Amino acid sequence: SFRAYLVERDGDGSLRQGVRTLDAGDLPPGEVTLRVAYSGVNYKDGLASRPDGRVVRSYPMVPGIDLAGKVVESADPRFRPGDPVLVTGFELGVSHYGGYAEYARVPAQWIVPLPRGLDLREAMILGTAGFTAALALHRLEEHGLAPGQGPVLVTGATGGVGSVAVAILARRGYEVVASTGKDGAVEYLKRLGASRVIPRSEVAVQGGKPLEKQLWAAAIDAVGGDTLAHVLRTTRYGGAVAAVGLTGGSQLNTTVFPFILRGVSLLGIDSVYCPMPLRMRIWQRLAGDLRPPALDALVCREVGLDELPEAFADVLAGRVRGRILVRVA
Ligand code: NAP
Repeated sequence: SFRAYLVERDGDGSLRQGVRTLDAGDLPPGEVTLRVAYSGVNYKDGLASRPDGRVVRSYPMVPGIDLAGKVVESADPRFRPGDPVLVTGFELGVSHYGGYAEYARVPAQWIVPLPRGLDLREAMILGTAGFTAALALHRLEEHGLAPGQGPVLVTGATGGVGSVAVAILARRGYEVVASTGKDGAVEYLKRLGASRVIPRSEVAVQGGKPLEKQLWAAAIDAVGGDTLAHVLRTTRYGGAVAAVGLTGGSQLNTTVFPFILRGVSLLGIDSVYCPMPLRMRIWQRLAGDLRPPALDALVCREVGLDELPEAFADVLAGRVRGRILVRVA
């Protein structure tokens, strides 16, 4: 038997959750059984803890959309006992038991071998947030972005995606402008590599003219809503915006002018079903040319399974700076 954080739904729709004891027989089907070492807390994991979160598709559920650990048993010849691996996205922690348990069982096609250059803990400091930030930068570079073209804006900069985005852009030599709603985050963001920090009020602007002063060569937007609309109005001719998140709203009110008069591109970023070849390429970049120099600077705090409720509350309230790491084993 082993420890797991389980979320159950009662008849009236309310949730009961906490650390429980499960058996191997409780694990879902899959070719590969893993001993989980670390997981993390993403915004989506916070939503999974709420009855109105609309993330979890079946109950009971072990949440945790990320995990890193070692193979215990595998019916797939690509994996052997002891292999260090990671899994993010797909159905993990949503309709298939996820990372908040000492053991997990998953389909082999979800598994990424741990890239050389990252250990299990470092992989989960990055987690889905880091993977998504790297995927966004990769897509922007495929679009033609290169250092020296001008400032790159990161919105929601102190969040998980935002913090890693700032760090990997800086690592690659970009001029990074970080926007944040948090007082007292300037030093943190500059330490991660931001050249300049601007208040959220400068980018979360409603209405405005269809086109405004051209400021950004590109942007990684974790906020959505009015912020994304403003970013589109202020992106330079030929630039691109990677749309990642919705902490500031899921509605997008824009005109077509940024697209048809400035050739601005809007790139959609999805980490969940990102195809495996690209997924492996992005993890290799995170372990290599994008590896943030001081990964521990991204850790807000490290928690055990028992401390997850406070971690969920903090991530949902936007109080987290960087990443909450979950020590499972
Ligand atoms: P997070 O750690 O909670 O970060 C979100 C950040 O957004 C906050 O730290 C805050 O940063 C900012 N923010 C919070 N409330 C806001 C508001 N009302 N208006 C404007 N900004 C606000 O979350 P995360 O895990 O990094 O995820 C960020 C977003 O990306 C979420 O919407 C998440 O669902 C999405 N996401 C998408 C993918 C994908 O595959 N597309 C993958 C991962 C995450 P400041 O205080 O610094 O402004």
